[in-house]
Amino acid sequence: MQSILESLGIGAVNPGGFGGTWGGSGKAQVVVSPINGETLATVTNVTPAEFDAILAKSHAAFASWKLVPAPKRGEVVKAIGDELRRQKAALAELVTLEMGKTLREGLGEVQEMIDICDFAVGLSRQLYGLTMPSERRQHRLQEQWHPLGVVGVITAFNFPVAVWSWNTAIALVCGDTVLWKPSSKTPLTAIACTKIAEKVLRDFGYDPAICSLAIGRGSDIGDLINTDPRVALVSYTGSVPGGRHVGKLVQERFGRHILELGGNGAVIVSEKGDLEIALRAIYFGAIGTSGQRCTSTRRVIVHRSLHATFLERLEALYARTPIGDPRQNEILMGPLVDQGAVATMEAAIATIKAQGGRIVCGGQRLDLPGGCYISPCIADVAGDLPMVQEETFAPVLYVQAYDSFEEAIALQNGVPQGLSSAIITNDQRESELFLSAAGSDCGIANVNTGTSGAEIGGAFGGEKETGGGRESGSDAWKAYMRRQTSAINFSGGLELAQGITLEL
Ligand code: NAD
Repeated sequence: MQSILESLGIGAVNPGGFGGTWGGSGKAQVVVSPINGETLATVTNVTPAEFDAILAKSHAAFASWKLVPAPKRGEVVKAIGDELRRQKAALAELVTLEMGKTLREGLGEVQEMIDICDFAVGLSRQLYGLTMPSERRQHRLQEQWHPLGVVGVITAFNFPVAVWSWNTAIALVCGDTVLWKPSSKTPLTAIACTKIAEKVLRDFGYDPAICSLAIGRGSDIGDLINTDPRVALVSYTGSVPGGRHVGKLVQERFGRHILELGGNGAVIVSEKGDLEIALRAIYFGAIGTSGQRCTSTRRVIVHRSLHATFLERLEALYARTPIGDPRQNEILMGPLVDQGAVATMEAAIATIKAQGGRIVCGGQRLDLPGGCYISPCIADVAGDLPMVQEETFAPVLYVQAYDSFEEAIALQNGVPQGLSSAIITNDQRESELFLSAAGSDCGIANVNTGTSGAEIGGAFGGEKETGGGRESGSDAWKAYMRRQTSAINFSGGLELAQGITLEL
């Protein structure tokens, strides 16, 4: 463990602020691993005054970074991707140590960082504006995209490095600087990533404050990001209540925000689908990352003719789930992020029972070091069970039976969140309906695969209480730039739009 920490530049005590230089004289926080309760390192938070200085550095760095040609900025992102390739194994292991996901998922998360860097490098030559025909003679109408400013990136614990990279790779090629406030549950991975970016920026001779860091509590450092007009865009990933708070504060000052909030992913299992695919997709979607993905499968809406068989088969899979130290290859489910998360899951199960749901299996604490291990739970419930409306950020899976396809869609859409959804069917009419305006109301709607494991090429995000934000691939980059529309007159006279005449 020590050699991994050292290889990523993590010492026994680490300052949690970076704005060209490292510092942090606020509260010290001991970081322990959920795997076994072992101490990993200590981090010192930044004070509000230190935050102010870091933001000033990030803001100043923007003035020169925005003038670097976009393909040159892409070269920096390419080098960050190359450095991530070199450090992939160590960084993945740190992700596992700090938040408890399995090593194979940690490796997948770092691969996602590499992928978005590659995407962004190509994007750096494709920040296209449009030209449109002008209604006036000898005029040209065009749109250009310009760098926006400082992007405040606030991240959740469950994808401690990927979400930073989705934002940072895109923001950097767009000419923005990034100020990151990670979850206080995962500060070490944030320090490791910032050191990687720092090295690359220094190697190129650019201001390293282009990728800054401020570790501290959401209620103080987070709110400073929300309220400071020097932060042009706040990209917030976290819970729905957190996003509601952030959204109001940023809107108050007419800042921009991208909100990536809670999900309540559902899979519809049609009687016309492949049960083997359904079982595999749902099992991974529900227990992967110990049910702590925003896209985790939380609900199964299964045709009544398959309900009993499906439950029996899934329960058998759950019963033999290898749970334990997520660094071991045979383990499929590691710990939850902390003991509080285990208590939240137990409380949710008690409420499900009180509301009339039947616990099929799971919810037992496991006697393993650290106290963060619990068996995954399946609850067989009626369509209107109130708990189904909530995102419990733990491996609790609701199974509901449906009779008609319309009922399945209504159940799927009948929750406040709108992130991820899927259907398992071989009936083309069903799958097309599911993807049509009459179907899933989610930002992600998959066919014959599960709700989680999104690829970086598409825009990622969801509707309703998930917040409406989009990040990562496709044209999500447009949120990181400001659009400028220009009319250029080369007629030699002055013709007004809409046929308005000017008699002087
Ligand atoms: P959380 O809401 O507890 O914390 C998220 C971040 O918000 C942390 O960095 C926290 O310090 C910060 N924060 C807290 N108060 C703040 C404030 N006043 N101002 C600014 N920032 C503040 O979430 P979590 O437990 O870390 O993560 C789990 C949640 O995140 C789940 O709801 C999950 O669905 C969601 N999530 C969503 C996505 C997505 O892309 N839609 C991805 C990952 C996680």
